[in-house]
Amino acid sequence: MIPLSEPYLNGNEWKYLKACLDSGWISTSGSAVVEFEAAVAEYLGVPFAVACNSGTAALQLALRVAGVQSGDYVIVPNLTFVASLNAISHLGAIPLLIDVDPNTWQMDLDILEESLASHCEAGSQVWKADGRRIAAILPVHILGNMGDMERLKQLIAGRKIVMVEDATEAMGTTFRGKHAGDWGTLGCLSFNGNKILTTGGGGMILTADENMMRQARHLSLQAKLPGTAYMHDEIGYNFRMPALAAALGRAQLEQFPTFLQRRKDIATRYRTELPHLRFQQSLPDCEPNHWLSTVWVEDKDALIDHLHTHEIQSRALWVPMNQLPMYKHLPYLTHKQVSQDLFDHCVSLPSSNGLTEVQQEQVIQAFVPG
Ligand SMILES: *Cc1c(COP(=O)(O)O)cnc(C)c1O
Repeated sequence: MIPLSEPYLNGNEWKYLKACLDSGWISTSGSAVVEFEAAVAEYLGVPFAVACNSGTAALQLALRVAGVQSGDYVIVPNLTFVASLNAISHLGAIPLLIDVDPNTWQMDLDILEESLASHCEAGSQVWKADGRRIAAILPVHILGNMGDMERLKQLIAGRKIVMVEDATEAMGTTFRGKHAGDWGTLGCLSFNGNKILTTGGGGMILTADENMMRQARHLSLQAKLPGTAYMHDEIGYNFRMPALAAALGRAQLEQFPTFLQRRKDIATRYRTELPHLRFQQSLPDCEPNHWLSTVWVEDKDALIDHLHTHEIQSRALWVPMNQLPMYKHLPYLTHKQVSQDLFDHCVSLPSSNGLTEVQQEQVIQAFVPG
């Protein structure tokens, strides 16, 4: 079976893991964690990074540090992986769903603009209908693509709405040369097994705000004060990345430019050799990381079955958030139910870092009729 997106572990993974094991510092206080944070921050050009034990943990912690409180709204696209909404909900906040753009599949900024104009006073973050505060906005760069971040920033400017980016699928993606995760006050990455760079499981918060960085790191370690006594000054979390994962991450980061190039070559070849298919589109100012090459087809289920009989793994997008039992009561702003259409019609094709040219040819041939 040709996998959808599998880890590629042919660099210094064994070497760094062995060094970590030999040192005995395998847990959260090992130096590998701080080194990995510094290396990712430097690569992305972001001042500070806080390594977490999952992308979901990074999201929850980033939203908490951004000031999101129980009863607040957090704006989020309706088409995303459920972790984006769970991170909001675990803080007691309420996701405010916005439909996505039919071309880029990212949060629809026309709907965002209209909604803020009609539901909030000028310069206000308060949702008039119920008096709740919109504390934050969580754009999710799905499939490694990115919307117009300049426009998004302008739309929330002056309203005290904090931008936290869910860049968990978008490490390496840029808009106007600036990395995903560096546009918001905080940004979050994931290093889950199916992402371009993996630590087995893990995530990272990126920020230019030193105080937020310190607070996130403190909270991720149970808010324990320095010293030997068990003295804690807040209700914290056990969210810190262990050194074993960071050791893997450092080895993966060395190969990251190659991974990005591979994903781009794969995306380019699909687009060139399957010109009749409708792929996700990117804005001219966006350089996506091409995490998963994804197409819109008339009969999604038939395509997934057909590829399966050719030993090719493919996958539909996520059930839209407004269709999930625990989230179907949420406010949802849409004109044309685009997220439903994308869920009904889209299929992601094999896009692994290690996908061979022969394997990719097999995928392309499976589209040839007969
Ligand atoms: C992968 C992912 C996450 C969560 O990351 P984990 O590391 O698996 O916790 C969150 N949001 C989106 C959109 C993702 O794709």
